[in-house]
Amino acid sequence: MHPSANKALGQHFLRDRRAIARILSLLPRQARTLEIGPGPGALTLPMLRRGQPLAIIEKDDRFAAIWHAHPEITLVHGDVLQCLDDAVARFQPDWIVGNLPYNISGPLTARLAGIALTGGMILMYQREVAERICAAAGSKPYGSLSVLVRHHYTPRLLFRLPPGAFSPPPKVHSAVVLLTPHHQARACSFQALQQAVRMGFRHRRKTIANNFRGVLDAETWRQLAIEPSARPEQLDYAAWMRLASRLAHLG
Ligand code: SAM
Repeated sequence: MHPSANKALGQHFLRDRRAIARILSLLPRQARTLEIGPGPGALTLPMLRRGQPLAIIEKDDRFAAIWHAHPEITLVHGDVLQCLDDAVARFQPDWIVGNLPYNISGPLTARLAGIALTGGMILMYQREVAERICAAAGSKPYGSLSVLVRHHYTPRLLFRLPPGAFSPPPKVHSAVVLLTPHHQARACSFQALQQAVRMGFRHRRKTIANNFRGVLDAETWRQLAIEPSARPEQLDYAAWMRLASRLAHLG
């Protein structure tokens, strides 16, 4: 038996064996892997059994105490939003996996998107968030996360899961996203892209030119080959990258 679920920490423990097997089948056994939120170990225990080099970040004291007893695991006991960069710098993972706490999945994904891994990421989300991440330009769910993840990765929604796949069941459906590195050249830094997206998606209903009024003029939109009357969700990753690069040069 494991400690009872703490709702404030978004604890819904994965109990669907096929989903667990599918996630692990994508992960090479020798790959250095960082797991976010291991909880009682639905993914952690099978990874340990097969000798996966493993680091974990867990906020809940009760679970951190359990994993502390495993010297083969590098344990980071704390809030992932604070510890992530440091854990990645120290452990140098090839892959990141996690059945994420849904209450912080937006800000967490904005951070994860800036980390370039050689392997990739396998992440469980609330279904709507997974769909937003994987959405194509011009579609309704497309937004800032869809743009940010494409800086280093190609996102793919792998499969969906009903609430009953978890204990206790969440109120929402879930989905697993695979982020595969695309290794393509980037014309701007992740920070520049973040700034452009933050400003550009501030008012979704406004045109892109309106969101940058006073910053970029008609001639610049022409040079960028971006239609100034377009809405922010109509711009694909390449357009955002051109835009971010120009903004970065303006200083
Ligand atoms: N991996 C387990 C599973 O699949 O059954 C648990 C997943 S549960 C949805 C989310 C996990 O993330 C919990 O273990 C929770 O304690 C942990 N967690 C929640 N917020 C966190 C945070 N800010 N930093 C680190 N871990 C967090």
